[in-house]
Amino acid sequence: MSSLLAVEDLQAGYGNLSVLHGISFELNAGEVGAMVGANGAGKSTTLRCLSGLLRPRAGTIIFAGEDISNLPAHRIVELGLVQVPEGRLLFPAMSVRENLMLGAFLPEPRKRMSQSMDAVLSYFPALREKLDLPAGSLSGGQQQMVAVGRALMSRPKLLVLDEPSLGIAPLLVREIFENIEKLAAGGLAILLIEQNIGNALSLSQRAWVIENGAIVMQGSGRELLDDPRIQAAYLGIQ
Ligand code: ATP
Repeated sequence: MSSLLAVEDLQAGYGNLSVLHGISFELNAGEVGAMVGANGAGKSTTLRCLSGLLRPRAGTIIFAGEDISNLPAHRIVELGLVQVPEGRLLFPAMSVRENLMLGAFLPEPRKRMSQSMDAVLSYFPALREKLDLPAGSLSGGQQQMVAVGRALMSRPKLLVLDEPSLGIAPLLVREIFENIEKLAAGGLAILLIEQNIGNALSLSQRAWVIENGAIVMQGSGRELLDDPRIQAAYLGIQ
């Protein structure tokens, strides 16, 4: 079976700055993949290329059997690769329900709006009683659920999460990672960038360490967690 996502020798940058120097990785349906690395290593740049927000300078990105390297962002969303941005970008004055419905704006997802809404509410039951409240009135953790829920409304095959635990109260962080596991168990592929490296690696089937725009280590999340170099560099374990 070929991978859902196959990135091959991806190179990208901004103006004269070359950031990604040939990144290759793969992810299958139902897998969680985590990208870890210091600030400025190139993680967000990789995600921007996947989502069509930055055009790669070289390399290929094959998603669901199609070369998406040069497709516009909206076509990539239509194919089922959907990113939840860092900072979540909800419409705070609109209700939770309206924010969710915005995720189903494409013709196909729109036809299945009520089915998708049911699925989202079964993943995030806490949102059921908040549907008519302004999204901005919810806690950070619940706003995160709305942002993920909105992405799910578009019926993605791959969900890309940029720092899902950023700014979330520590007690709720665990819930976020549990939800990620639940979604993957339902067959969705999830690619995430996380500062919360211990949590991210512990649930990832595949993980990559990026340094200076190149993958310097890879393995299952468990393998990387057990690696003394990762423990020293990223987990503060000596
Ligand atoms: P962070 O966690 O800080 O976002 P990152 O691994 O996601 O780190 P990137 O955001 O991909 O790193 O940044 C990689 C490099 O590209 C950095 O040197 C950064 O300064 C540069 N960079 C990022 N965005 C731009 C941009 N829009 N224009 C110019 N340079 C940029």
